Amino acid sequence: MEHLPDDVLVAVMQYLGVQDLFACRLTCKRLASLVLHRDVWRVKDISDSEGCVCPVLHLAPCLRRLSVCFPKTRCRDAYTSTRCAVAELKISFRKKSGAMHATAVICRQEALGRLKNIGILLDKKTADLAADADESILLRTLASTSGLVGLLVFGISLPTTAQAMMGITVSTPSLQRFVCDLCPNSEHFVNFILAGHASTLESVALTCSAGVAGLTSTAPLLASLPNLRVLQSWHLVGMGAVAACEKLNELRIFVSSRREDEPVEGAADLLRRAKHLKKVQLSYFPPARSAEDIGVDLVTVLAAGRSRSHLESLCIENSQLRSNEHHFPQREALLHALPSLSALVHLKVLAVVDPDELLLAIRPDMVPALQHIGVRLPREKCAHAWIHSHTARAVLKVNPSIHVKLDALTPACSLQTCQACVLGCHEVMKSRNPDKYKKYKLTSFTVFSHDPMDKCAQSHTVVNENTLWIHIPVV
Ligand SMILES: [Zn+2]
Ligand SMILES: [Zn+2]
Ligand SMILES: [Zn+2]
Ligand SMILES: [Zn+2]
Repeated sequence: MEHLPDDVLVAVMQYLGVQDLFACRLTCKRLASLVLHRDVWRVKDISDSEGCVCPVLHLAPCLRRLSVCFPKTRCRDAYTSTRCAVAELKISFRKKSGAMHATAVICRQEALGRLKNIGILLDKKTADLAADADESILLRTLASTSGLVGLLVFGISLPTTAQAMMGITVSTPSLQRFVCDLCPNSEHFVNFILAGHASTLESVALTCSAGVAGLTSTAPLLASLPNLRVLQSWHLVGMGAVAACEKLNELRIFVSSRREDEPVEGAADLLRRAKHLKKVQLSYFPPARSAEDIGVDLVTVLAAGRSRSHLESLCIENSQLRSNEHHFPQREALLHALPSLSALVHLKVLAVVDPDELLLAIRPDMVPALQHIGVRLPREKCAHAWIHSHTARAVLKVNPSIHVKLDALTPACSLQTCQACVLGCHEVMKSRNPDKYKKYKLTSFTVFSHDPMDKCAQSHTVVNENTLWIHIPVV
């Protein structure tokens, strides 16, 4: 080992766990000093859920990510006296306290100069800290921490008044990604961030766990972000103005189909006017149930809009994971829209549907560029039975270049009941059957008929353990 150069040893050490690294300190002088090299630690993620992190905070010069849960009863000072500079802080709260300590930790890391990302997660059960002065200081600190590239704020009741944000400023815009869980109180905080980092923001996600009625002043600020590329947001009043963002090419709109008081005109306006959309997802929460529900025909607007001839990816989401309800009232609008979307390559329907009905209705001449269709199978449908079905063959036969992705809760019959499962083929599907504790785990299968060796934009190889490629030759 003494013949190995330092940089090789350092590279090896990047793969060692913290315990092993500290063990190296006791072997020899050379290893003891190499183990404290920056390059060993700048790729490490440490979480205090695994126990005391004091030795790391005392010795390591830096970390990629530090995950901390507040309030802290022990080791408090180690977090605020440390010289270990982290690039990402992930903060969660177990109880309704600890905001002051969290603020001190953020300030310490800001001073150490490597902090680029902060994520704050507050459990719903411990939420409702709005009145807490401590929490207000935490939010003011978040809003004014310099040098951040990413900020995620989830589950915090944000300041209710403009005063809560008064007296702080953004010295130099730096933020590129901003994710915030909206509630009616969020407006001032969200607007402060959007205005302060207008020149640098590229990706904004405004999710929501409560109603967003009344959030009226945010859309114009979004519209003035010159570099906005990715937007995920609840439909907002006046959202159409965001079409002014020339770089916007990825858009996800959350539609609350049954909240009559929240019109979707703004969202429709944006889908109509945005010029460079490449990827659009329409997410209905709660899922729409009938064609009369709000926003069900938004895809029609998109198909008549300025982006229609270069949209590459479309996803319509109309289900909740744990529900097996079959509702897809967007079907008619989608089928009418498809012929206008001449560049569409990916289509995904995240709804529990009868796949046969939908897939047979989408003819290849309707959408010549289409290469991927994703659907979700109802729980009672055995995915293995489906890949042996006449429909599967018919769909693959008329469109040899297509890939059909099935998200299934039942990859194969567990008791070998259907005709396909009795055959004992495609055992790999059965091996993906979730155990009873993971009833809601979706497994994905992508079936295709063209020669797997053919030139195809897809590699047909496993991306992760939940995705399988299955070749079905069709003669
Ligand atoms: Zn400790
Ligand atoms: Zn089966
Ligand atoms: Zn089979
Ligand atoms: Zn292929």
